[in-house]
Amino acid sequence: QQAKRVVGNWKMHGRLAENAALLQSVAQGAATLQGGVQVGVCVPSPYLAQAQTLLSGTRVGYGVQDVSAYTHGAYTGEVAAEMAVEFGATLAIVGHSERRAYHRESAEVVAAKTQRALHARLTPIVCIGETLEEREAGTTEQVIGAQLDAVLAVLSVAESARIVVAYEPVWAIGTGRSATAEQAQEVHAFLRGRLAAKGAAVADVPLLYGGSVKPENAEELFRQKDIDGGLIGGASLKSTDFLAICEAA
Ligand code: 13P
Repeated sequence: QQAKRVVGNWKMHGRLAENAALLQSVAQGAATLQGGVQVGVCVPSPYLAQAQTLLSGTRVGYGVQDVSAYTHGAYTGEVAAEMAVEFGATLAIVGHSERRAYHRESAEVVAAKTQRALHARLTPIVCIGETLEEREAGTTEQVIGAQLDAVLAVLSVAESARIVVAYEPVWAIGTGRSATAEQAQEVHAFLRGRLAAKGAAVADVPLLYGGSVKPENAEELFRQKDIDGGLIGGASLKSTDFLAICEAA
């Protein structure tokens, strides 16, 4: 079994002073973690330089929460993957449900962003997930299958093998109501099959679960066969909680 991954998504939180304390304690705590868990944090872009200063040489990787679908040009407000790479970033979340919902990112845009991140040598963490209405209508597999397929469609097999997928049911994000380990495993097994259909090398793509992961439920989630780690929102803002989740991986 591959090493687990735990990645924090700070979303739009943090200021210089509190980031410094958080990054330092995460780096210190991560240094003493047993096992091979890979730890990362995705910070707001203005704080990339700070992450670089405080995390270089530690076992904590870092990255951004979105990238542009373009390398450069007249795209006011956008950040190119290559810009993040200049600050030592190795990770980029793409297609988070908050971007799909509030910024109208289509499946095609998410696919283009994934491609751009890969070309810049970032590891894209592609987020997919169904809404509560979609789950209740019984269309979960249809929805997330289509979200995943749109990305795989623009990637070669070799490129597909370099992505990370995060299953984040929209109804579990920031609600305190996590999917049960059983619900998450069921979806992850479905996604595993979908990835394997792209090519044998793609079957091992890390599948992270995200949505109200906390120290109390992390261990059970991470014990599931097809759950390779977690994408952590709220609990990544408190070093003790985030490190406890890393510990559970
Ligand atoms: P919460 O852990 O706050 O539910 O957020 C999950 C998430 O959206 C991570 O990307």
